[in-house]
Amino acid sequence: MNSLFAGLTVSIFEEMSALARQHQAINLGQGFPDDPGPEDVRRKAADAVMTGWNQYPPMLGLPELREAVARHYRTHQGLEIDASSEVMITSGATEALAGALLALIEPGDEVVLFEPAYDAYLPLIRRAGGVPRFVKLAPPDWRFTAAQLAAAITPRTRVVLLNNPQNPSGAVYGPAELQLIADATAGTGAIVVADEVWEHVIFDDRPHTSVLAIPDLRRRCVKIGSAGKIFCLTGWKVGFVVAAPEILKVLAKAHQYITFTTPPNLQAAVAYGLDKPASHFDAMRADLQMRRDRLAAGLTAAGFAALPAEGTYFLNVDLAPLGLTDDTAFCRRLVTEAGVAAIPVSAFYADASMRSVIRFCFAKVDATLDGAVARLVDAAPRLAR
Ligand code: PMP
Ligand code: GLN
Repeated sequence: MNSLFAGLTVSIFEEMSALARQHQAINLGQGFPDDPGPEDVRRKAADAVMTGWNQYPPMLGLPELREAVARHYRTHQGLEIDASSEVMITSGATEALAGALLALIEPGDEVVLFEPAYDAYLPLIRRAGGVPRFVKLAPPDWRFTAAQLAAAITPRTRVVLLNNPQNPSGAVYGPAELQLIADATAGTGAIVVADEVWEHVIFDDRPHTSVLAIPDLRRRCVKIGSAGKIFCLTGWKVGFVVAAPEILKVLAKAHQYITFTTPPNLQAAVAYGLDKPASHFDAMRADLQMRRDRLAAGLTAAGFAALPAEGTYFLNVDLAPLGLTDDTAFCRRLVTEAGVAAIPVSAFYADASMRSVIRFCFAKVDATLDGAVARLVDAAPRLAR
């Protein structure tokens, strides 16, 4: 068997969700909302199953969805995208990432990524033959500098893989930081792959800046999006890839032999949803921001002050000020002794060098958040030892 996959442990999300079930814990670990999601979008999918096309759709995606993706990004991000040559639909962002890495990397090529790194990145990079080079980020603000990029980028760099907004840190990178990446990779031929699945989950009126909006990167980047995050329907594995035609053509070769297509009924519903008015997305953000603030206040009341969260479903707590330095052990105690599941952020560092931060998901209804906070307040005196 392949030694890389044979040697991997089960994902931290699966592990913590299983532990949560086992201990009847409130699950603020794995990132998924516990409300049903937009009814009209779900209805559209149901109708499409009953009355629509249920055979293979076109390999690159339903034309109506590819056009809706281009229109959506024009409306919300001011991007000019050609639907027929620059957009491809995949079975979730995960497939898009796997396909991009397989299609862009030759064995021995270097891939620069930022730690904490979403858990899928490193195994996919390694399996594609890539050699990871890390830029390490740290709380409280998780920023990177030109000097860090200069140290990581070499003539062998083929891909820079950025997650913006960033899971798990909740950091959002703006035009100036994207420009640093453009400058650091100028003339190297490196392609910037930007996992922007959290593009709509961004708070305090911050804008999202796509990698496609940076003129120096427009022809050498790949933007990845996900309907799962845009509509808070995380089980819907419908992803989008946007790239210049010459790059997209090659990514499509990977897609055609990974999944070939994505369920057409979900694609039809996503095409409908992407044209919803801006007020829908504003309301979603406002609602999630309220949840973020509700959980932050509760965590503070329990003695676990949260770090700033500019985007994503996640709030982080740095345990270092409490003298706690083993996030994994602490998360296990949280599940068993407090009945609340969280995610240890060391799981997103290859060398587990960051061991004091834990991540809570706040995309939950009030009763879930309040229940978790009550448990944390109750358990805090025992846990902070
Ligand atoms: N990238 C990041 C940063 C994510 O947080 C997630 C899921 N939470 C994904 C990719 C996977 O997206 P999808 O479910 O569309 O495959
Ligand atoms: N992206 C989700 C999170 O960060 C989990 C996805 C998964 O379970 N693979 O929690």
